[in-house]
Amino acid sequence: MKGSVEYDGENILFEVSYGNRKTMEIAVHPDGRVTVKAPTETTRDTIYARVAKRARWIKKKLEYFRQFEPSVPKRYVGGETHLFLGRQYRLKLVKSADREVKLKGGYFFVTTPEPHDPTTIRKMLDKWYSDHALSVFQNRLQLCFESVKKLNIPFPKISLRRLRKRWGSCGDSGYILLNTELIKTPLYCIDYVITHELCHLKIALHNKNYYRLLNKYMPDWEKRKEHLEKVGFFPNPIGKAQTGIR
Ligand SMILES: [Zn+2]
Repeated sequence: MKGSVEYDGENILFEVSYGNRKTMEIAVHPDGRVTVKAPTETTRDTIYARVAKRARWIKKKLEYFRQFEPSVPKRYVGGETHLFLGRQYRLKLVKSADREVKLKGGYFFVTTPEPHDPTTIRKMLDKWYSDHALSVFQNRLQLCFESVKKLNIPFPKISLRRLRKRWGSCGDSGYILLNTELIKTPLYCIDYVITHELCHLKIALHNKNYYRLLNKYMPDWEKRKEHLEKVGFFPNPIGKAQTGIR
């Protein structure tokens, strides 16, 4: 038997197997499965009541296991965590005639008439991320540009795209392309990618002179790069994603 219990905005799915045993046992597995072993004669109601009673504990366990799987494709369901500037926020789906995404406390509140439609939730979140990415990146570009003023390069335009393999790149005509997904990483990683690209506007190749510049303006760039590599997530992970930057 399969069942589900709603708790704190999350639909907890579980599988029941019956056997010759005296007590009920609920287990949460690292792959996110919730199993219930029950004595043969246990009624459906009893099982549901028990799962509901342990819901808080189940949810905690699920969250614990989820943190080790950052590259698992998102399901856009309540309780799932989503990143913004390197921090995790839990998804809270609210049913209402209004449509809104709001970050409050540790939560992403997504209000929509269709809270159980993952496509709707994904679209709303993606839009929210894009909007915030644009304003945050523009802001950071100002700051980073200020710190490399001595490069004497013209102030670049930025454009955003959801890139599959790269955090950023730059074009000959003085623009910088940034991966929208960068908005999920900490500011110091965003600054690193921007500064990396700004230095390219002076020196296109990754040669000695290029790294001399980068070291000068961002001496701790390697640490930031390492962090970005650890994050390593991409919207559509193809094997182990390369932290591309050009
Ligand atoms: Zn580069």
